[in-house]
Parts: sequence; structure tokens; C-alpha cells
Amino acid sequence: MPKVYPLRKETCRRRQGKEEMNLNGKTALITGGARGIGREIAATLAKAGADIAICDVNAETLESARADMEKLGRTVFTGVVDVTRPDQVDSFVQKTLDKFKKIDILVNNAGITRDGLVVRMSEADWDMVLNVNLKGAFNFIKALSKIMMKQRDGRIVNIASIIGIMGNAGQANYAASKGGLIALTKSVAKELASRNVRVNAVAPGFIQTEMTAKLSDEVKTEMLKFIPLNKLGSVQDVANLVLFLVSDDSAYITGQVVQVDGGMVM
Ligand code: NDP
Repeated sequence: MPKVYPLRKETCRRRQGKEEMNLNGKTALITGGARGIGREIAATLAKAGADIAICDVNAETLESARADMEKLGRTVFTGVVDVTRPDQVDSFVQKTLDKFKKIDILVNNAGITRDGLVVRMSEADWDMVLNVNLKGAFNFIKALSKIMMKQRDGRIVNIASIIGIMGNAGQANYAASKGGLIALTKSVAKELASRNVRVNAVAPGFIQTEMTAKLSDEVKTEMLKFIPLNKLGSVQDVANLVLFLVSDDSAYITGQVVQVDGGMVM
């Protein structure tokens, strides 16, 4: 007979829903947090108790995100920042530190697509996607690494994509940026692990947002054939995973790429 180990009391309490992952006293910075997946991540971390800093390029959506987040009773700091601009990134990080005194969590979420077959892809579309999706994450990681190392605590989550794992015709720039982001995640995880800074990537599949709303019904129907769970994911599905990866519950996890894709890529 295999030995059955009893559940620890702590685990039992959680399973009964009496205790949840909490981020009380933590500060989280989310890029591209004004709408879509980033906004849901910000709201989920706020509900878990974190104070929130959000940056985005769009002042209007940023303001509405701030109002929503404040309703959750957390302190929220926002800034119009283009993640491709190191000067703007450094200044936002400094202002966030002035406000909260520390930054425990970084979620590199800002991302764009400029799709097209590689034979027709303009240099501008290549550069733009690589700059936002990959260099943007580098800019924030660089700005925050020293601070998190000094704190001897930090959690970084990079929002990649299954496209960065499997590639996709018509998305060479996007796939390269997300594949690069995964490689960046693993490298930085190795560099920062000795200072208790954990770095992981989340690779969503097809999630219902404005980014995927642009796809035709035909494309969506075709896609569903490849998703074993037979539905698109929700922004909450992604945010739940991010919450786990920035919480103490994932204390022994770093350098990983976790897919949230309904089983699409296995
Ligand atoms: P959205 O387009 O809905 O949101 C992205 C946000 O990032 C927007 O608020 C956008 O601003 C902002 N942003 C764009 N460029 C910059 C920049 N240079 N600096 C700062 N902010 C910027 O995207 P999603 O929520 O769908 O995607 C979020 C992340 O998840 C992205 O990294 C994406 O690649 C990834 N992802 C999404 C999937 C999906 O199915 N939706 C699947 C896999 C990965 P603005 O409003 O001006 O555009």
C-alpha cells in the first residue's frame, strides 16, 4: 500500500476557502495596465491587497483604470509611459518609489501586434513589435533589478505568448519578440535568483480581449479546433496565474514558462 500523507493544516484551510493568496503590504507595477489582460492583472493583484502602479500610453484608458482600481480600496499610482523609452521608464520607476518606497512585483504586460507575412513585413513593423514587446520588458527589468536585488526580494512576471513557443505564419515579428521574452526570462531568472528575485513567464493562448476581437469569426472557429478545452480563455484566467506566480505560494518557482492556453500547446 502506498503511504498516504495527511494534508498540512494550512493546506486544509486554503482548500476550504478560508485563506487566499494575499499580497498585503506589497507594491506591484504593471505595464500596459490600462486595458485588457493588464487591467485584469492589476485589479486581481489589488483585490489580493497590493498597492498598484500602472503605466500605459493611453491617458484616457489609464484614468478609467485608476478609478476602477481605487474603488477596490487600494492606493493607485498611474503614469503615461511608452515602455520603449528608457528615460520615461526610469522616471516612472523613480516616481513609483517616491510614492510607495518599494516595488515588490513587476508585470511586463504591454504588448502589440503588427501582423503580416515576412516577405511583406516592413522594417518599421518589425522594429515596433520588438521594441514594445521585448525591449520594453528589458527597460523595466533593468530599471528594477538593482532595487529588487537590494531588497533581497522581488517577483517579475513577463507576459509572453504561446506564439513565442510554437511560432505562427504572419506573426514573425510577434513570435520573435515573445520567444525573445522567454529567453530573457530564463536568463534574468538565473542572474537574480541568488538575491531572492524570481522571474517567470506566462504564455497565454487565445484570450478574449480587444487584441483577439479583431480576428474574424472564421479564424476563431478554425482556432477552436486546436483548443482541447474548446473555448477562448478569459483575462481572469491569465490574472489568476499571475497572482500565483507573484505570491509566496510559488516561492520555489523561477525561470519557468507557464502556459494558460486551454491545452492548445502540449
Ligand atoms: P491590449 O491591446 O488589449 O492591451 C495592451 C495594452 O498595452 C494597451 O493598454 C496598450 O495601449 C498598451 N501599450 C501598447 N503599447 C505600449 C507602449 N509602448 N507602452 C506602454 N503601453 C503600451 O492587449 P492584451 O490585453 O490582449 O494583451 C496583453 C499582453 O498579453 C500582451 O503582451 C500580449 O502580447 C499578450 N497576449 C495576449 C493574448 C490575447 O489573446 N489577447 C494571447 C497571448 C499573449 P493602447 O490602448 O494605446 O493600445
